[in-house]
Amino acid sequence: MDLAPPSPTIMYILATGSLVMFTYGFYIRVRVYGVSGFINQLKYFSRNYTRFLRDVLLQGRVLSDPYIGISHLLIMYGFLILLFGKVVLGFPFLFNLNLPLVLIFKDSYFRYSSLIMDISGFLFIVGVCLALIRRVVIKPWKLETGLEDIIALVALLYLGLSGLLTESFKLVFSPYSSIWSPIGSILSSPLATIPTNIAVALHTLFWWSHILAACIIVAAIPYSKLWHILAVPGNVAIQSDKPLGSLITPFLLSELLSNPEAMEKVRFGIGNVWDLDWPRRFMVDSCTNCGRCDEVCPAVASRRALKPRMIIQKLKKQLISGEAEALIGSVISEDEVWSCTTCGKCMITCPAWIGHVDFIVDLRRWLVGNSRLDKKKSDLLSNLAHSSNSLGMSQWDRQELAAKLNVKTIQESSNIEYLLWIGCLASYDSRAIKITESLINILKSANISFAVLGAEETCCGDPARRLGEESRFQEIALNNIELFKKYGVKKVLTLCPHCYNTLKNEYPKLGLLNIEVYHYSELIENLISHGAIKLSNPVNTVAVLHDPCYLARYNNIYSQPRAILKQIPGLKIREAKNRKRKTFCCGGGGANYWYEVPEEKRISVVRLEELTSLNVERVITECPFCLAMLEDAARIKGIDEKISICDLTELISKSLSGV
Ligand code: SF4
Ligand code: SF4
Repeated sequence: MDLAPPSPTIMYILATGSLVMFTYGFYIRVRVYGVSGFINQLKYFSRNYTRFLRDVLLQGRVLSDPYIGISHLLIMYGFLILLFGKVVLGFPFLFNLNLPLVLIFKDSYFRYSSLIMDISGFLFIVGVCLALIRRVVIKPWKLETGLEDIIALVALLYLGLSGLLTESFKLVFSPYSSIWSPIGSILSSPLATIPTNIAVALHTLFWWSHILAACIIVAAIPYSKLWHILAVPGNVAIQSDKPLGSLITPFLLSELLSNPEAMEKVRFGIGNVWDLDWPRRFMVDSCTNCGRCDEVCPAVASRRALKPRMIIQKLKKQLISGEAEALIGSVISEDEVWSCTTCGKCMITCPAWIGHVDFIVDLRRWLVGNSRLDKKKSDLLSNLAHSSNSLGMSQWDRQELAAKLNVKTIQESSNIEYLLWIGCLASYDSRAIKITESLINILKSANISFAVLGAEETCCGDPARRLGEESRFQEIALNNIELFKKYGVKKVLTLCPHCYNTLKNEYPKLGLLNIEVYHYSELIENLISHGAIKLSNPVNTVAVLHDPCYLARYNNIYSQPRAILKQIPGLKIREAKNRKRKTFCCGGGGANYWYEVPEEKRISVVRLEELTSLNVERVITECPFCLAMLEDAARIKGIDEKISICDLTELISKSLSGV
């Protein structure tokens, strides 16, 4: 028995109503972004296609948790196939439209469309059920579940179930081969005894409710959490492809100095969401509130005031509500803003590719612009302004260090291959100076031609920038770029990952061009692989490598130190759970080294506990700040006698042949 096709008129009315609602909601939602220069922004899509393929189409980041990853994949592709099926497969069948596909494939068209819809409908239901179980039964701490989430999932569940039930009741009075409708056939077998007229009525009921559910869901997309279906792929596609380790440059100091009138238009940070440009408003609106950023955040682990998810959600709330009050103080606390170490783990975890650190630093810029700094932060900026280094020491000490370590300065010998950029901590701190000594020892052993800047080396500007003092950062950077030009520097070798990241990823925007920047681990690995140095003295110990965020996460340098460690005889390496790009912060980044925020447990202690749980005798770092933070943590825990914390250079130096 075949049913007469349902009224096309009612179908068209429902579909049109749904599309009108969708279009209006889309307009309202997009209007608040204040879109301008959309075409220009599209240029990023051509560069972002690999991330689009991996993290949108293949759901790479969501799949890092297989349970929710599989659930989300089933829902996403199930929904897309069902939607496609309704429009392209179902309508020709219902209304006897002779579309080209129907004409080409004839009966096979309907058989295959039935099979595809049947299986994808079932998988869609499985995906929605998994998501519901997670929200209602498992309830992970990172996930905030509201009524809207449950309503959305129940609506999707009904969409899938009503589709399958429509098919099952139809099979009761109009059976055909179970091959083309396997799930519907299974469900219809217990219904076989139902009288035909009741089966027809139930079929019609579910058919219409299925169509109605589909129309309501499509109409609701711009007004609900379902907006992420469009916003996340859109955000991944159009956001700038600047290096992960580089912050947004809000203005160019060099341009402002040559055109002081432009200064009036400069915004120092963001006071509210309306200070953001449209792509970043769109970015905020693509947050799905999934909580993945909270799950990996060291500030959350140490029970600081900050939850990165909440920063983005608060911005989103202001965007949607249209309010314009200053965020800091009333909506976001200063402690939240200062609690971030700019470690970047939230950003590489977020499935929507949201750039949390840029938002947080923009809030800091606003605080700096409004003179809301405590003494420690003011002292840091004052040190940078008056002493040219973050510790407020004499620049002449750097010259004396060069003399003490018997290293040439570039003023004495400019015909060198590498400029060794030591960095503030490794120039002044007595413990960190030992790292400098070790590195110089290695460079000399390999006959590397290098020199230092001596008294002319200043801070690279990283703490000023991460603290939110953009003008000071750019002033420092411009001076350093001039210095590099003056001495004809071609290659810079850095000891500190923060200097490395700043010189490599942030200076080019300010005019540093045609200069190669290396972290020492890159150079030393190269020297070992080319036989320029040999590591043959055994170092009999069990150790773990702590990857610095600014090296491993921001700059993908994690295989080089491991390759070096493999060459050291007697050394046994254990790997931490949080390692390589997924390393865990030491707590010192983002200028946190110089100030304190309320917390239950220090981030450095959280990290050290993870590392020492591997029963190691030694923790190896590649950053003077990580070393200082972890040594401090060892003292706090009272294990500084039991665990040795050293820099990679110190281990290499011990193992160097002939030393
Ligand atoms: S910012 Fe990203 S990771 Fe954090 S809740 Fe939003 S979508 Fe999830
Ligand atoms: S950058 Fe690090 S500390 Fe800051 S919010 Fe992200 S995960 Fe947390």
